[in-house]
Amino acid sequence: MSAAHPIPSVVAVEVAEFSPRVAPELVVRGAAGVHDRSPFALVRVQCSDGAVGHGEVSSTPIWSGEDGASAAHFVRTVLREALVGQPLAPVAALSARMDRALGANPFTKAGVNAALWDALGRSSGLPVAVLLGGPFRTEVPVKLSLSGGGEALEANHAAAVARGFRAFKLKVGLDPDEDAARFALARKLAGRDAFLGMDANCGWSRADAARAIALTAADRPAFVEQPVAADDLDGLRELRGRGVPLLVDESVYSVGDLARVVRADAADAVSVYVGKSGGLERAVAQGRLAAAFGLQTIIGSNMEADLGAAAQLHVACALEGLSETIPSDIAGPMYYAERVARVPLDIDGRRARLPDGPGLGVEPPAELDGSFA
Ligand SMILES: [Mg+2]
Repeated sequence: MSAAHPIPSVVAVEVAEFSPRVAPELVVRGAAGVHDRSPFALVRVQCSDGAVGHGEVSSTPIWSGEDGASAAHFVRTVLREALVGQPLAPVAALSARMDRALGANPFTKAGVNAALWDALGRSSGLPVAVLLGGPFRTEVPVKLSLSGGGEALEANHAAAVARGFRAFKLKVGLDPDEDAARFALARKLAGRDAFLGMDANCGWSRADAARAIALTAADRPAFVEQPVAADDLDGLRELRGRGVPLLVDESVYSVGDLARVVRADAADAVSVYVGKSGGLERAVAQGRLAAAFGLQTIIGSNMEADLGAAAQLHVACALEGLSETIPSDIAGPMYYAERVARVPLDIDGRRARLPDGPGLGVEPPAELDGSFA
């Protein structure tokens, strides 16, 4: 690297816990529990050239055993030391350093990684999607999760429509007969031609899943997401070819997980997360691997707020092979009772739009300014 293009180094890594509250009418109830508040954290990285980057740890204890408190603990006691003094690029080398210093904790590492990418973008004046090899698009169609049944589902759907959503997935994975009845109601509410999939979050047995797929066939689910356990790749393969595309989510955290799904011929599509993969460049690597083997890719969600959703969107825009038929789940900010980001992401319920500015292009909540430590 010539002296004319010095790479700044990391001088500080700080973290603040951040717990946005979900709007009561949009609380998600699935086979993996109730999501009514998000135990997240925000990470702030400062660099030697003055650039400052932010990233969101979009953690949920039931997914990976992480929350905002565990993220704050590990950033302050382990990850900070692994990063301070290191050159900001290549970011993938910093991801490797985090892996050598701390096992697991992918959502925590992903939040730090997003802050590093944001800082690199601000330092270079470029959007993160460009640094990741894009952008192949500047808008991404999105959908929202619906849950519950009867009047609760009707109210949930009405609240989603009021926020501009027209594409949905229903949380299923409980009793297959009840799930099919709720799916029929969701189809009636959404409309005959609306995009509507279903997500079982590992909740069905193979027999339950086969029954639910048969019972919902007349209501034409656009996809079935993670019908059986994450490691039941044989079960997933058995459930393919029944008229509904099979999408894996919990089965794939790492590139290695995705390679196993590909080898087992276990899916038609994969839901790639920034959080599960542990970093933006790793999410992009998963999307490229999926495309190389003919799987569709969508960007999946743990109900990210604005900074987390921005990281998802930059990845989505860097993926040439992003699915053109299944909307992504980059709608997290719309679930919250309040949007507190100083500069929020541009989402209208139908699509999320890539910001023009450098880095991730959104700014963290002003109320957290004094909380980073
Ligand atoms: Mg899912």
